[in-house]
Amino acid sequence: MRFYIASSNAHKIREFSRMFAGRGMDCEVLGADALTPSFSPEEDGDSFEANAMIKARALRSLAPKDSYVMADDSGLVVDALNGAPGIRSARYAGVSGSSADAANNAKLLKALSEVPDNLRTARFVCAIALISPDLSENIFKGTVEGIIGRKEAGKGGFGYDPLFILPDRGITTAELSEDEKNSISHRGKAFISMAEFVKKQLKK
Ligand code: IMP
Repeated sequence: MRFYIASSNAHKIREFSRMFAGRGMDCEVLGADALTPSFSPEEDGDSFEANAMIKARALRSLAPKDSYVMADDSGLVVDALNGAPGIRSARYAGVSGSSADAANNAKLLKALSEVPDNLRTARFVCAIALISPDLSENIFKGTVEGIIGRKEAGKGGFGYDPLFILPDRGITTAELSEDEKNSISHRGKAFISMAEFVKKQLKK
């Protein structure tokens, strides 16, 4: 079965390929760039679910009819900041490109500088929108709970990972291996729900 992902991010495409393979599913995963040279629908939804579905619908019109199309939207929700950066996680500091992560993390540390340890609770949230060959639409969600640290730790992952401490392990998600992170992450959990759904659909 072929899956098109509404992203051209090679890291994300590889991550999904590994997760399918890890569940014994023989799926070919291709990015939006396999269908169009420029894929950038306007993500003007007010939730992770809405933005994921906007991207999936935009790709559905370009993909072959017998393929699955999926899109994910994720971000960091910090309780002490009333849910910010939330759906604006990628551009929280208003910087794009390779220095975005460092700028976002610096802004987050500053915003939380006066917040005590017990109130630094946060979660990564992921919504995956799936549109099947029969055009049915479904959303799958996953979350992982954490605490925002006071300094960066770890070289793995991306984005807010160096600040996101897993309370039961006392390390950040940037200190996990790629497979370890996939097994506990918001994206990993949303993916598993989606993969189980697809398995059932394919058996019908
Ligand atoms: P996207 O929707 O997956 O592109 O994620 C949007 C933004 O949320 C990213 O640019 C990161 O800043 C943040 N984010 C999402 N998932 C993660 C994660 O697993 N680790 C760290 N940051 C993440």
